[in-house]
Amino acid sequence: MAGAHDLEVWDPEVIRAWDLEHVWHPFTQMKDYARRRPVIIAEADGVRLRDIDGRWYYDGVASIWLNVHGHRVPALDEAVRTQLERMAHVTLLGQGHVPAAVLARRLVERLPQGLRRVFFSDSGAAAVEVALKMAVQFWANQGETRRTRILGFTTNYHGDTLGAMAVAPDPIFHWPFLSYLPEEPRAPYPYCYRCPLGRTWPDCQLACLEQVEAVMAQEADRLAAVIIEPVQGAGGIIPAPPGYLKALRALCDRYGLLLIVDEVATGFGRTGRMWGVDHDGICPDILCLGKGLSGGYLAISATVATDAVYAAFWGEPGEKKALYHGHSFAGNPLAAAAAVANLALFTPEFLAALEQKAERLRERLEPIRTLPFVGDVRARGLMVGVELVADRTAKTPFPYEAQAGFVVADAARERGMLIRPVGNVVIFMPPLAATEPDLDCMTAILAEAVAASEASLAELAHAVAPDGD
Ligand SMILES: *Cc1c(COP(=O)(O)O)cnc(C)c1O
Repeated sequence: MAGAHDLEVWDPEVIRAWDLEHVWHPFTQMKDYARRRPVIIAEADGVRLRDIDGRWYYDGVASIWLNVHGHRVPALDEAVRTQLERMAHVTLLGQGHVPAAVLARRLVERLPQGLRRVFFSDSGAAAVEVALKMAVQFWANQGETRRTRILGFTTNYHGDTLGAMAVAPDPIFHWPFLSYLPEEPRAPYPYCYRCPLGRTWPDCQLACLEQVEAVMAQEADRLAAVIIEPVQGAGGIIPAPPGYLKALRALCDRYGLLLIVDEVATGFGRTGRMWGVDHDGICPDILCLGKGLSGGYLAISATVATDAVYAAFWGEPGEKKALYHGHSFAGNPLAAAAAVANLALFTPEFLAALEQKAERLRERLEPIRTLPFVGDVRARGLMVGVELVADRTAKTPFPYEAQAGFVVADAARERGMLIRPVGNVVIFMPPLAATEPDLDCMTAILAEAVAASEASLAELAHAVAPDGD
């Protein structure tokens, strides 16, 4: 038997064997994967996932930060089904389609005023690549061909394609490519828990921005743009302090640079407001969207620009001012239909409830702060990071090899919640649809998992400082 039947009738052990033998998983050391008993998901419902052995888990990272209204949401399922009756896919190259036009309009109505031109792609990384190319060509089209540099923040994450890596190179994840990537100027992201200036917000008055300005001043005539995440996501859930983005916007204006804000992770309510930039009330020149755009249903992303950026690309074919970039599945109609339905669910009531959930979550996280090996607990909206440290006083990090975050993730899995850490930071990103009782259960599992990891973490900490105690 083969074909569709394969997906109807299967044996868990056969699936497990085929997975191990043939699926090369993203961001996964397969040797490590092979020695555990991996979770393989068969279905999902609401904020839960069921594995092939019939066990249900909370989706504690919203299927890697994508899921918004839960799984199998009637309105989203219906939107995709209805669209499927019309067409699954047609191109956007040189022609339009109905779901793309509707989605672009509905997005513009919700975005900060000024962002009006929507360029669709199919992944967050692609949305970032488009933003970088847009910024460089924005200047080139006006005869400023020397402005090819992008100022990025050291530990931000923008995706795994080459341009996205170049603006946020990482010594662990990108080491083979570091000499291959163009060298971009960088500034440190504001990491208040480990402030290199030894200052505290708000007394610091964002003194760290001086370093950013110094790079801008030095590179001014070579810079096209600055790119930043409103909350550093994959770099460990680090929110920029209030006012930081606003001050950065002002600096970009002073030095005549475009500001690109990567909201692939923070968009669509994740931070407790519709957009991450809403906390500072700013409007970037270019905004990147992905992950939650289709409610986490299907692959679609967008790079949204202001009229001023768009105008620089307007010209006759012979002028070669067009943005020569496109992906086969850009703006896929099924994904766009899901995205339109997703946006419609962001009612004022939904957003108000979200702020309340964020508040409740903050309260529930408080007890975790005092647990052993917890250095910092950071939350913005429904984005949570628990930073584990080998020594709370000295804030000594666990070395990468210790994989400290996975100790807690394994303990959470045993207790019925799937999470995925980055390095020493245990990440908790429930779907926004999680109810207050769901959030209570999930945070309780998180706290129990951290507490239950004490002995294992103590062993790892001992390895860091064998003489200490
Ligand atoms: C996930 C992420 C990306 C990359 O998106 P993909 O869809 O995985 O390519 C880019 N930027 C940020 C901030 C992200 O969190």
